[in-house]
Amino acid sequence: MKLAGWGNFPRMSCRVATLGAADEAQSWLDQPPMIARGLGRSYGDAALQPNLTLLTRRLDHILAFDPVTGLLSCEAGVTLETILDVFLPRGWLPPVSPGTKFVTLGGMVAADVHGKNHHKAGSFGGHVRSLRLMLADGRVVECGPDVEPELFWATIGGMGLTGLILSVSFHLLPVHTAFIRSEVLCAPNLEAAFDAFEASAGWTYTVAWIDCLTGGRNLGRCLLTRGELAEPDELPPGLLPRRKRPKRVPVDLPNWVLNRWSMRAFNTLYYNMAPAKPRPAIMDLDSFFYPLDALLEWNRIYGRNGFTQYQCVLPKPAGREGLRHLLATIQKSGFGSFLAVLKLFGGHAGGCLSFPMEGYTLALDFPVRPPTLALLHELDAIVADHAGRLYLAKDARTTPGMLRKGYPRLVGFQHIRDQWGATGRMQSLLAERLDL
Ligand SMILES: Cc1cc2nc3c(=O)[nH]c(=O)nc-3n(C[C@H](O)[C@H](O)[C@H](O)COP(=O)(O)OP(=O)(O)OC[C@H]3O[C@@H](n4cnc5c(N)ncnc54)[C@H](O)[C@@H]3O)c2cc1C
Repeated sequence: MKLAGWGNFPRMSCRVATLGAADEAQSWLDQPPMIARGLGRSYGDAALQPNLTLLTRRLDHILAFDPVTGLLSCEAGVTLETILDVFLPRGWLPPVSPGTKFVTLGGMVAADVHGKNHHKAGSFGGHVRSLRLMLADGRVVECGPDVEPELFWATIGGMGLTGLILSVSFHLLPVHTAFIRSEVLCAPNLEAAFDAFEASAGWTYTVAWIDCLTGGRNLGRCLLTRGELAEPDELPPGLLPRRKRPKRVPVDLPNWVLNRWSMRAFNTLYYNMAPAKPRPAIMDLDSFFYPLDALLEWNRIYGRNGFTQYQCVLPKPAGREGLRHLLATIQKSGFGSFLAVLKLFGGHAGGCLSFPMEGYTLALDFPVRPPTLALLHELDAIVADHAGRLYLAKDARTTPGMLRKGYPRLVGFQHIRDQWGATGRMQSLLAERLDL
């Protein structure tokens, strides 16, 4: 089967096996190397292995739920969309959500995903109580923060490289409505954006769209959205959650559609549409958390050659200078991205290879072309100079050296993989590219 990540780069033929039940994986274990795949929403090569890619979508049973504590146990192929469909009407919300609900629990654990509330709630792994993991030799191990903690913290954010996650138990959050009270702040440059983030640190959810094509005194201008879960008395009477029907991008668009002029026009229009003063609004959860899901297959906008997302995090306080340098370099190159996001991370600890660290994270999409790849190489040097790192769930092109610089716990991670027999057996294309 031809497979790719969300960025459609790289795309390749992979032998696949669809797991209909957890124990079916055992019959494939004598054919390494292999890697698990959820919904393929990682952007690059993390869920690709030409020799054998294990599709987990059919491991889709909800196993148990405790309505007193909110502890939910599900097979790893259950999607965030299913959890929202089943539990939100009952007053429960996943504690951390990435920017799409089309992900599996296995993918959320393996990438230790973060949401707009990382500064308050940390990443998804911090809410996981236990995992059932199939090791490369077929043994099934239960692990959690207090049971086999080293294996657990290597699996949280471990990009599928310790074994096949069979099931996940984690806590849901009780909520009183399915709405968010939100407002948008305009920040005319990067300094103002940092100030707006710090001033909004008490809000549960914050995220900024950043215009990376405008330079000079408006370098880094942003629209920062902040939100809180709405209480029933904040809703207008009669408001009910509405299920909107998503639209679809029908074909791969030609490469010329996204160029610096169309992106600049989009950025200027979008920034100028924001109200001058913050105006509170009530939004449904889908519109607030997953605006991109309203357009299915939007990745086809980038055409056949595909695209890559460059997501880095730079620790505070030096990261501010680093971000300025990154944005100035991108702006000068003219290869901007119309989807550019800035978020604040808190200081919560994660797994050995978890991406978040206290600081600012910037994410930008770039079409895959030789000049943009050269630019990303330049950006790598700036990130490394500021003690930052790249998000493996988004990456398709960085180098082993960059990985080593950014992830000081990598040696410990490799040691745990060796100890549990995963090295060389649980192996994605990403792992091969990065010498893992
Ligand atoms: C539009 C969009 C917005 C996004 N926004 C965010 C965001 O805000 N924050 C964020 O953190 N991420 C974000 N992501 C990235 C996404 O959340 C992660 O890549 C996530 O891992 C995808 O889940 P998946 O089920 O599609 O996994 P896949 O892409 O299929 O796999 C991702 C990794 O998980 C491993 N894996 C999957 N299932 C298992 C299993 N059962 N056992 C062991 N390993 C497994 C794979 O081997 C691979 O290494 C976004 C992605 C998209 C497309």
